[in-house]
Amino acid sequence: MSGPINASHQTDRVLIVGAGLAGLACALTLKSGSIPFEILEASDGPGGRVRTDKLDGYLLDRGFQVYLTAYPEGQRVLDYEALDFHRFAPGALVRYSGKFHKAMDPWREPFAALSSILSPVGSMADKLLVARLRASAMAGTPEQLLLRPEKTTMQALLDFGFSQNIITRFFQPFFGAIMFDSQLRVSSRMLEYVFRMMATGDTVLPGEGMGAIPAQLAARLPADSIRYGARVEAVSESSVTLESGEVLQARAVVVATEGPEAVRLLPRLPQVRCRKAMTAYFGIEGPPPVDDPMVILNGNVQWPIHSCCVPSVVCPNYAPEGHHLMSVTLLGESQQEDAQLAGVLGSQLGRWFGDGVKRWKFLRLYRLPHAHPVNAPPTVEERPVELENGVFVCGDHRFFPSIQAALENGRHAGEAVANHVL
Ligand SMILES: Cc1cc2nc3c(=O)[nH]c(=O)nc-3n(C[C@H](O)[C@H](O)[C@H](O)COP(=O)(O)OP(=O)(O)OC[C@H]3O[C@@H](n4cnc5c(N)ncnc54)[C@H](O)[C@@H]3O)c2cc1C
Repeated sequence: MSGPINASHQTDRVLIVGAGLAGLACALTLKSGSIPFEILEASDGPGGRVRTDKLDGYLLDRGFQVYLTAYPEGQRVLDYEALDFHRFAPGALVRYSGKFHKAMDPWREPFAALSSILSPVGSMADKLLVARLRASAMAGTPEQLLLRPEKTTMQALLDFGFSQNIITRFFQPFFGAIMFDSQLRVSSRMLEYVFRMMATGDTVLPGEGMGAIPAQLAARLPADSIRYGARVEAVSESSVTLESGEVLQARAVVVATEGPEAVRLLPRLPQVRCRKAMTAYFGIEGPPPVDDPMVILNGNVQWPIHSCCVPSVVCPNYAPEGHHLMSVTLLGESQQEDAQLAGVLGSQLGRWFGDGVKRWKFLRLYRLPHAHPVNAPPTVEERPVELENGVFVCGDHRFFPSIQAALENGRHAGEAVANHVL
């Protein structure tokens, strides 16, 4: 890299590195305190891991994901009406023993809900335990759930007394899909928190794709406050050096990148390991393979397909007229070329949905090396956003992987910066 070619003297502003949800939430907090700031974003748009591409009339979220309307921070900062949410039906379709089994809304109606999925494999005891787990997750505030004693989710389910059948058939595919961890090593705090969010709100997709969420926040910032294509190479207490060599002076610096990049920029942070995932999209001409607006889980927890979904059944905008979109989520990574992997997925999808799958068109594969920061106990707690004089850090890796945590932790960073500079 060449040396500095320019040194800006705008020392009254705060520089935020990254325009993901945490960086945007931080910026909005600074804006409300009339503190000058600029966001430096390496890519060409806002949102980080929450972006949507348009391809041939399809909306492709960069990794299939959903929004939970019960997220407290989302309720604070997002305009839900403008986002035009489309709801999933509560529950899931689970594929095992050669059939799809419908598990309707286990969080809100634990008894009625699990009868279909449990009948061939589960027990009355499992149903009672789901009710007990629900009662536990509904007690106290959502914030208090994140302070409870924690263990791995797998250990928590075993200690609750759940049978291996319901763990394998339901919890591993369902919660494993949410946390990108089919072995359920993720903290039990996350199990209860997500359970609580699903029980008290809706699971939705915005009418214009998940990218509409950060786009709404970015639109509230001054037009020239985000600089795109500005990859940050290094940070110090009072300056930021771009990859281009340009040096920008700052009153304070907030690193709001994904975890591993934050560690590169701030080597004193502890290492952040990440769960990897991939999402493949297929275009379908004609009717969808399933009519239920639900996520479809692989109840055999075998690679490659972990879960799939037809987002266009939930929200028709996801596919052009007369077409549907199939999204397939895989955990981990693969050395196979995109088209080759799509072929492997096509074979498994063909066994599930029949010969029509041969006519589906492979659209795109997203490889997500930093899908989620690893979130195993004993680490699930909000870590300090202020590191030392003038250097701040925020993002999901400082709290827990979710839109809720990125927004909340970003706001906390903005509040800490305001305290520092005012
Ligand atoms: C496939 C997938 C599915 C998910 N599903 C859900 C879900 O259903 N529900 C849910 O709540 N959460 C979900 N999540 C998690 C959620 O998306 C993240 O926790 C959240 O978006 C993280 O936001 P962030 O701002 O912390 O980081 P990021 O979104 O990673 O933002 C970091 C930003 O920093 C930029 N950047 C990085 N390095 C530099 C640099 N050197 N210079 C300048 N800019 C830089 C990046 O380009 C990026 O824009 C999912 C995530 C993925 C990947």
